Amino acid sequence: MTATTLLEQVTSAEGHKVHDPATGELIGHSPAASAADLDDAVARALRAQPSWAAAGHSRRQAALHAAADAIEAHAEELAQLLSREQGKPLNGPNARFEVGACVAWLRTAASIPVEPEVLLDDESGYAELHYRPLGVVGAIGPWNWPMMISIWQIAPSLRMGNTVVVKPSEYTPLSVLALVKVLNSTLPADVLIAVPGDGSLGKQLTEHGDIAKIMFTGSVTTGKAIIKTAADTMKRMTMELGGNDAGIVLEDADPQAIAEDLFWGAFINTGQTCAALKRLYVPDAIYDEVCQALTEVAAKMPMGIGLEEQNVLGPLQNAKQRDIVARLVDAARDSGARVLLGGDPDAGAPGFFYPTTLVADIDPQNPLVTEEQFGPALPIVRYSDLEQAIEWANGLEVGLGSSVWSSDPERATEVASRLQAGTTWINKHGAIDPRVPFGGAKQSGFGLEFGLQGLKEVAQPHVIQR
Ligand code: NDP
Repeated sequence: MTATTLLEQVTSAEGHKVHDPATGELIGHSPAASAADLDDAVARALRAQPSWAAAGHSRRQAALHAAADAIEAHAEELAQLLSREQGKPLNGPNARFEVGACVAWLRTAASIPVEPEVLLDDESGYAELHYRPLGVVGAIGPWNWPMMISIWQIAPSLRMGNTVVVKPSEYTPLSVLALVKVLNSTLPADVLIAVPGDGSLGKQLTEHGDIAKIMFTGSVTTGKAIIKTAADTMKRMTMELGGNDAGIVLEDADPQAIAEDLFWGAFINTGQTCAALKRLYVPDAIYDEVCQALTEVAAKMPMGIGLEEQNVLGPLQNAKQRDIVARLVDAARDSGARVLLGGDPDAGAPGFFYPTTLVADIDPQNPLVTEEQFGPALPIVRYSDLEQAIEWANGLEVGLGSSVWSSDPERATEVASRLQAGTTWINKHGAIDPRVPFGGAKQSGFGLEFGLQGLKEVAQPHVIQR
């Protein structure tokens, strides 16, 4: 499979038009599955599930490693396609990184031992806990990390003996179709099926009587809609929803030393990341130094067409998201906040670019701080009282990630323990690891992904007691 043929294999003569977000060029048409196609996919996945479950852990582990090998063999083709459709550059923590992460998550999901747990073994009796397959898992994903997030849903589900029907975002269907094509070059038939289409297909999946569990990553609004729809069939769910991650810099932090990690914490994937740093709280004592160090780092990072090797920042994936970022930055500027960098997009240029933007001296209740911007614009809030900063950080309904920045690990850990989030990083932000569980607090969702806990989430606990 070359890059061209892989693209050719996943596009159709007609269907949903997919454009390059950097240039506006038509990449191709994504096939649009019908409601009947989705029913057929679920029926096939249901039929394939018992023999996949019966294959046992060791054969499924080998199958996941073989699938990871297949991705490695097609890594560059996948990265190029992802870059063109999603917009993210090949280099930096972007397209090649994302394809590499798919391999890492598959191999880790394959490698973690899952054993029955002995709960009780004494004169009163014996009890052990097994993790059985659930059946068919419905995977619904977003457009920001389409391949990696699909793998987060597919890899643990397959490992635990489930089959999977995946519904990609209509913004990035080709990336997921290409990934599934490569995975299916080694997996048994019908263990993994992709059904491209819009949100109505996602809804159908969440209503379907033969889907045992929904793995969802996307917006809080859609997550709530899915919870309601899925209630009738009592589906299991993992909800990885939006966040608005706070970072708190402590007075003893070294601005120069943390500037680059702060930058990538916020601007990874051009800010389009669920657990990116989206609001930064900095004490008076080092406020100007942090703003300056961050501006110097940010100003050096090239933004442009993803396929051009020098770029590390790209366009927004779609016009809707670009307009959200522009609206929030304009309103912040109008409110009197100080734009340190960016904030002035080139209206005539092709693509959905928005420049790297830093906004200082902003009110903590400004919408750029309290709403999820999901793009390359970071508000930097000044504080003089750490208690106040912690209160602001905890003041929203979401709580996916957060971070504390300090030269004193013990003090940072103490502040971290007071933040309401699924993960709090110290002196970094968003550094996920396939061995370490990840999930949200509050309205950022529920259920853990990754590690042994992530495998257990796609299994039915079953106690045997005597
Ligand atoms: P959405 O929540 O709108 O969409 C995510 C997925 O759900 C897509 O595949 C979508 O399909 C599907 N979907 C839409 N409606 C339904 C439904 N009723 N039932 C089942 N599935 C449905 O997120 P977007 O991708 O549009 O992003 C919007 C916002 O979500 C962003 O601004 C950001 O705040 C947040 N977000 C968070 C992410 C995270 O990683 N936590 C990732 C991406 C976005 P389709 O797109 O085809 O309509």
